[in-house]
Amino acid sequence: MSELSDEWRSKELRIAFVPTMGYLHAGHTSLMQIAQSNGDIVVSSIFVNPIQFAPHEDLDKYPRDLARDQKMAEQAGTVVLFVPSEKEMYHQDFQTFINVEEITRGLCGRSRPGHFRGVTTVVAKLFNIVKPHCAVFGQKDAQQVAVIRMMIRDLNYAIELIVGPIVREPDGLAMSSRNAYLSAQERQDALVLFKSLEHARKLVQNGERNSHVVVAEMEKIVNSVDSSRIDYIEIVDNRTLLPLDSIHDGTLLALAVYIGKTRLIDNCIINLP
Ligand code: AMP
Repeated sequence: MSELSDEWRSKELRIAFVPTMGYLHAGHTSLMQIAQSNGDIVVSSIFVNPIQFAPHEDLDKYPRDLARDQKMAEQAGTVVLFVPSEKEMYHQDFQTFINVEEITRGLCGRSRPGHFRGVTTVVAKLFNIVKPHCAVFGQKDAQQVAVIRMMIRDLNYAIELIVGPIVREPDGLAMSSRNAYLSAQERQDALVLFKSLEHARKLVQNGERNSHVVVAEMEKIVNSVDSSRIDYIEIVDNRTLLPLDSIHDGTLLALAVYIGKTRLIDNCIINLP
């Protein structure tokens, strides 16, 4: 992988990179298409990164289908699909980690301690191997975007960060590899994430600016189905991820909700005139 990248770079070809954990869906392929229009060569990776999962999380049952992924990635313009093994990525004596500090403490970081340390470590390694000019991440993982943005700045990576919009199912559910875990009833119940965001957006459009009021309204919608358990619903600054009492242009509304045993996340950014 690294030698290919050196060769492309020597020919002044622009490398656009899309890291994923596989089990691809239209959210992933949309990022590959964005990569295609931002570079000469699209490199995508599939690596289910063990160090970003806590021991009780779903590493072992994370869905995988490499044959299908290869076809989808190719159709979406991926030239090289980089699929390293765990052994190649982590030497048995591996002991170097990247930790972005403050903005990994809240939101998903609160219930998943160590998760972002695993993400930034693997993304740093992938950046070093793939040597991209730009990298495309999905807005679906809003905190991940903020954390990677910070890492790129703080560690002087000469990589342009491009953020792709959230791709949704026709009924609004944000696409996620983890949607495969949902039963038919849970799949229906999972719509409360999107519905609560849409309701919040309407409240704000109609003039509501108080974060606490909006969060309380979102909680009501999420709690209206039996299978849901709120991990967090928060209104924060989109860059610093610090909580905001009042909503303004660019504010991030983010939530994580268990539907049955499956933890789902979704978010939206408020646009005000
Ligand atoms: P994952 O395979 O879940 O680690 O995701 C790989 C990349 O795809 C990340 O940058 C995600 O934010 C992005 N992604 C996942 N789901 C979506 C979606 N529904 N829409 C847009 N991007 C997504």
